[in-house]
This record gives sequence, C-alpha cells and structure tokens, in this order.
Amino acid sequence: MREYKNKEARILDRIICNGCGKIIAVKRGMPMEGVFSVCQAWDYLSGKDGETDRFDLCEECYDRMTETFRIPLSRTERTELL
Ligand SMILES: [Zn+2]
Repeated sequence: MREYKNKEARILDRIICNGCGKIIAVKRGMPMEGVFSVCQAWDYLSGKDGETDRFDLCEECYDRMTETFRIPLSRTERTELL
C-alpha cells in the first residue's frame, strides 16, 4: 500500500507491506529496501473484468509467498546493474 504526502503531486511518503504491515521508508521517491509492487488490471477473460488490484509486499513476504509455489520461480542474475 502506498501513502502519499501530497496526493495531487503524487509524492510518495512510505510504502506499507500489505502482507505484514511493515513500513518501508521512502527517500526522494525511492523505497529504501526491496519491494514487490503489483498493479494487476483484470480483463474480460477473468472473473474480475474491469477491476484493478494493487498491493506491495516486503521482501520477506515475497519470499514467503513464492516459497509456496508448487513449481519454483526462476531467478536469473542481471549482469549490468545501474
Ligand atoms: Zn511484509
């Protein structure tokens, strides 16, 4: 969940993990730790046609969620980090 200092200017204040409630600090618009952010717009082939789901997870909740997958995720390493 994203909280904004100024809703009109969309200045990001902090992110709250939807999974555990942990507060993730934001400085100059950048989260200060890893965040998994979802914005899923469901289309007409789904049961949620026209609805958009948004949530944020901290890295620990992301790991907990992906560890429940029956088929493990694939992870590759980027060679060029900016
Ligand atoms: Zn969390």
